[in-house]
Amino acid sequence: MTDNTPLQRIAIVGGGTAGWMAAAALARVLGPHGPAITLIESEEIGTVGVGEATIPPIQAFNALLGIDEAEFVRATQGTFKLGIEFVDWRRRGHRYFHPFGVYGIDKGAVPFEAMWQRLHVAGEAQPLESYSICAIAARAGRFMPPQPGNTPLAHIGYAFHFDAALYARFLRDKAEAAGVVRREGRVVEVIRSGSRDFIAAVVLADGSRVAADLFIDCSGFRGLLIADAMGATFEDWGHWLPNDRAVAIPTANTGPLTPYTRSTAQSAGWQWRIPLQHRVGNGHVYASRHLSDDEAIATLLANLDGEPLTEPRQLRFRTGRVDRFWIGNCVALGLASGFMEPLESTSIHLIQAGIARMLEMLPTRAFEPADTRRYNRLMTAEFESIRDFLILHFHATERRDTEYWRRLATMPIPEALSERLAIYARTGRVYREGDELFTKTSWLAVMDGQGRTADGYDPLAAGMPLDEVRARLERIAAVTHAAIGHMPAHADFIARHCAAV
Ligand code: FAD
Repeated sequence: MTDNTPLQRIAIVGGGTAGWMAAAALARVLGPHGPAITLIESEEIGTVGVGEATIPPIQAFNALLGIDEAEFVRATQGTFKLGIEFVDWRRRGHRYFHPFGVYGIDKGAVPFEAMWQRLHVAGEAQPLESYSICAIAARAGRFMPPQPGNTPLAHIGYAFHFDAALYARFLRDKAEAAGVVRREGRVVEVIRSGSRDFIAAVVLADGSRVAADLFIDCSGFRGLLIADAMGATFEDWGHWLPNDRAVAIPTANTGPLTPYTRSTAQSAGWQWRIPLQHRVGNGHVYASRHLSDDEAIATLLANLDGEPLTEPRQLRFRTGRVDRFWIGNCVALGLASGFMEPLESTSIHLIQAGIARMLEMLPTRAFEPADTRRYNRLMTAEFESIRDFLILHFHATERRDTEYWRRLATMPIPEALSERLAIYARTGRVYREGDELFTKTSWLAVMDGQGRTADGYDPLAAGMPLDEVRARLERIAAVTHAAIGHMPAHADFIARHCAAV
């Protein structure tokens, strides 16, 4: 009979963002009388050291850890993020904003976007940004968290930019304070248990062994446990998302502190700009099939708006996911579980989602296979819906200026995305499938921003007289614009509440 008692020991292999997020969350939730948690990391190997932009669900993770937001922003040289500005994506010279929060306000069962689409078809709609407090505030360089009450200020959605190394350090302090034991050392061998297809222990370079009931693989791209030991295979999505390299460089701050990430499309990839309190993070993500490393570095250096602070740093990756995220008593999180380029800042979120699901399905020592199957099914759906959202940015473009963009614009796409595009083209209708990450706001922002138009509108809005729709949307835009008058400049907000010392 299998042992159905609670876990006694958990071993986490890897001390990057994934490892320390898992350690801090498990220690906090399972408490001092829960399983003993050991984290093994190797300074010699190091971490990927990037990953500095986030999305709003991270607030739930901070709440789970009992993190004080001002302390967190101060400790990580953090800034606030209201969304992403996309430059040159639809065509050169065009820009749009993908905001957090929502557009406008629904009228009962008639969604805002149906009313907007109705006006749009009549040729009278203002740009979507006019109805988003986050987009308007971002353009004006303002920030504050949502305010109680019945005004657009209640709908401010936000996330953070932070220094990845400081974030890992911050989480490590939290985890160690909650009882996690850190072991420095390189894992050189994984010992399997005889009776079940499980991991019994890992062996470090100094010959010591760490045994556990549950192993969490946070070893990065290598996938030391999930792939090398447990045999997970990699599902490659490079044919849809061909970028496979990045070059990153920090620069000195210049100009006002923008409360958003900027993504600028280039000839064979795109460039990020992430403002922090002490520097700006920049990187160029590109497809090595279309661009050499030297060309990528030259493009990055030619498009910086501040003095470089270091030499450029090169990173390689592959896009896709492992076929199983959880096998036996091993769960993979972070880069060990898969990776999609950082266009919509989703990797840290995927770590968080994996931790939340793992807690929801926390195994006993019996490791019920039905939990494992369910976990794998839900994480697969999460990865795939994010994948489709990313593909939308590259596929729905008017750019045809390079082979890279021509190929992306004409390639076959996943069926679920084709379906979304067809539905949008007819009625401008957007939707959130199940509990997928991206909301209707996100799908609408990118569909419209990338230049997709609908030839009709959602019949739900047909019952409203056009005059009423017009008046309603004018009022929403006016109230939203007026609301930002109450918001301080982003830099002032930080100086007042959470300036790093
Ligand atoms: P790593 O940081 O690689 O850590 C792996 C750990 O495993 C290290 O501690 C290492 O020492 C340890 N290890 C490995 N092998 C061994 C061994 N044999 N023995 C002992 N220890 C071992 N995400 C976002 O959410 N937002 C972003 O803006 C963003 N930007 C990105 C930009 C780029 C170019 C890339 C590549 C990624 C980006 N990401 C972003 C993803 C993000 O960086 C990662 O999801 C995150 O850092 C988690 O990494 P990790 O902890 O899984 O792996």
